[in-house]
Amino acid sequence: MASLIVAGGGIAGLAAAIGAARAGHEVLVLEQAPAFTELGAGIQIGPNGRRALEELGAWEWLRHHVFYPEAIRIRRARTGAELGRVPLGDAFRRRFRGTYQVVHRADLLASLLAVAESEPAITLKTDSRVVGYEDGPGAMAVRLADGSVRRAQGIIGADGIHSRIRAQLLGDVRPRFSGHVLYRALVPMDEVPDVVDRRSVNLWLNPYGHVVHYPVKGGTALNIVVAVNEQWRAGDTWGERTDAASVFRIFSRTCEELKAVLGVPAQWMRWAGADRPPVNTWGHGALTLIGDAAHPTLPYLASGAVMALEDAVVLMRHLAQHETLPEAFRAYEKERQPRTSRIVNSSWKLSRVYHATGLVAAGRDAFIRLTSGRRGFERMAWLYDWRP
Ligand SMILES: Cc1cc2nc3c(=O)[nH]c(=O)nc-3n(C[C@H](O)[C@H](O)[C@H](O)COP(=O)(O)OP(=O)(O)OC[C@H]3O[C@@H](n4cnc5c(N)ncnc54)[C@H](O)[C@@H]3O)c2cc1C
Repeated sequence: MASLIVAGGGIAGLAAAIGAARAGHEVLVLEQAPAFTELGAGIQIGPNGRRALEELGAWEWLRHHVFYPEAIRIRRARTGAELGRVPLGDAFRRRFRGTYQVVHRADLLASLLAVAESEPAITLKTDSRVVGYEDGPGAMAVRLADGSVRRAQGIIGADGIHSRIRAQLLGDVRPRFSGHVLYRALVPMDEVPDVVDRRSVNLWLNPYGHVVHYPVKGGTALNIVVAVNEQWRAGDTWGERTDAASVFRIFSRTCEELKAVLGVPAQWMRWAGADRPPVNTWGHGALTLIGDAAHPTLPYLASGAVMALEDAVVLMRHLAQHETLPEAFRAYEKERQPRTSRIVNSSWKLSRVYHATGLVAAGRDAFIRLTSGRRGFERMAWLYDWRP
């Protein structure tokens, strides 16, 4: 049994801790925040994500909090017309031997927290901001903001897109800004006008922007994400509250249904749409990265959190199979890098076409029509067919 420190207690950190504990290791999770909580927003989870949650033992808790949407509908923001649809009912379930679900992020985190708290080999610590690590032969350590040092035999950096562990490991600094700013809101479903589709995931395409909305909390709340072409100025803070001025500027000429959606939230949270280009180094010795610390991605394939869950399952397998931490970590990295790089690169490409105008938009719409319905399934098979 080795001792491991996981820096960061988000989705990746808790999932990694569960995986490592189940592989027989003792784990200390250090989270900078005063509690293990997530800001309100939604997460889409394909059949691959559900399988990962089952492996980690978190599905049993989470399944009572999910909503199963009928379809993913791709629509034109100006007219409301449907360009394409991926039905998520029986045919989808048979094809992928699993369900497609949407959840509130807090519920996903709570399901992982419930499992982590029930594992005697996991210690959870809040108010613990990691500022760097030290790696000596046979002993590694993390330094905390309060000046204390915690030692362990291995370190897993799960501290998100602005990871301190990654910054020290790779020397990279700012994430790559996509040119899109993301606005997110969560509203009670009984405030949403009846005209709005509340049974499906709706993706609305518009020149210079797009909107995604779907029900969460078992259908009692609507999660809305708006992405618009906008600059991110130095000094803007991630996750700041804002009104909806930019949202309404770009979506001023839209159909009544979308106007009704955008009219509900009084406040939005604002984020830079950013990622980092894939790299081949996630660690050395008994150090590795997981989740957004390893492969932060734009959300356009709705897969960042699901990749973190898959990472944790693969890490668990390699920790159980290999004698030493460095062997297990390198094997895990080798298995995960091609898949997560594809997610990052594909999401970046989508960011270029979602907000397109003119001929590019016409080509995109023709492609969506061609791959609508069950034909769309095979296009997504590389993503949803993953199994542990
Ligand atoms: C608009 C939007 C929509 C999305 N939709 C989806 C979706 O539908 N499906 C999906 O799968 N993914 C989605 N994602 C992606 C998903 O949210 C992320 O990939 C996921 O949250 C990454 O989890 P993480 O634990 O790696 O990082 P984070 O969620 O960033 O967690 C990092 C944790 O580490 C802590 N931390 C940070 N620094 C330190 C430090 N120095 N010391 C100690 N602790 C630290 C933080 O407080 C936090 O708790 C979406 C993202 C966005 C922005």
